[in-house]
Amino acid sequence: ERVYRVTGSAIGRGTGLYVLVFKDQSEARRIDRMRADFIANASHELRTPLASIAGFVETLRGPARKDAAARDHFLQIMQNQTSRMARLIDDLLSLSRLEMKPYLKPGTRVDLRAVVQGVIDSLSPLASESGVAIETDIPDGPFEVPGDRDELFQVFENLLENACKYGQSGGRVTVSMENMETGPQREVAVTIHDFGPGIPEEHIPRITERFYRVDVETSRAQKGTGLGLSIVKHILTRHNGRLSIKSKVGEGAAFTVHLPAG
Ligand code: ADP
Repeated sequence: ERVYRVTGSAIGRGTGLYVLVFKDQSEARRIDRMRADFIANASHELRTPLASIAGFVETLRGPARKDAAARDHFLQIMQNQTSRMARLIDDLLSLSRLEMKPYLKPGTRVDLRAVVQGVIDSLSPLASESGVAIETDIPDGPFEVPGDRDELFQVFENLLENACKYGQSGGRVTVSMENMETGPQREVAVTIHDFGPGIPEEHIPRITERFYRVDVETSRAQKGTGLGLSIVKHILTRHNGRLSIKSKVGEGAAFTVHLPAG
């Protein structure tokens, strides 16, 4: 469906000639709709834990007032729900910060080897808690790309965190890095591969959309917000990079980050 805004004006006086301008509004409408959907989804995601907290406050003031065990149990749930809201707000702020500075400051070179090593170090508690061994296959390099260190850290953190959480049953995750020549352009490719349940093919094109999850219950249980991969995609687009996803159900999933070496 195409939507046009039409404006017209006469050419000269009494010539009987007019100019009509057709301006394509479809893209603007689509963006408006996406924004409205996003606000509706975000509000819903925040409302759910809030409603649960409000319900437990009510119970604590009434029936559970004198029951110490029930009180502890409900307070624990309320604490989990506030953490969930905090995670969601952090991710929403990340997205809005990215949108507010659409262009990347040029000039900084980032060593991906050091970034990835930093991410592995910071996620080692999660990995051991999940029973996942992280194996690396990173040659000597160099693996420098132009970009923003903190943003690239977030890309690999989100991907490796997902691999440990969703791929937990595979027991290991591999991280590999290589320099590639794609025509005149040189790029660095980093692949994070897990051996968990994988992602059914029909979901793959959509999982980088905001709030899209293959299974909402699993995502919630894994403390997901549904925003991790959309943040990854956003950051990679700003770096002129891209994400490719390969997966076979039952054999795990491989997420490859491609970044131009500049
Ligand atoms: P979430 O906060 O739910 O983890 P993401 O945007 O990071 O959100 O991921 C979106 C969805 O993609 C997840 O809910 C999960 O269903 C699926 N997913 C992401 N990574 C993996 C993976 N390594 N293996 C299987 N499914 C995955």
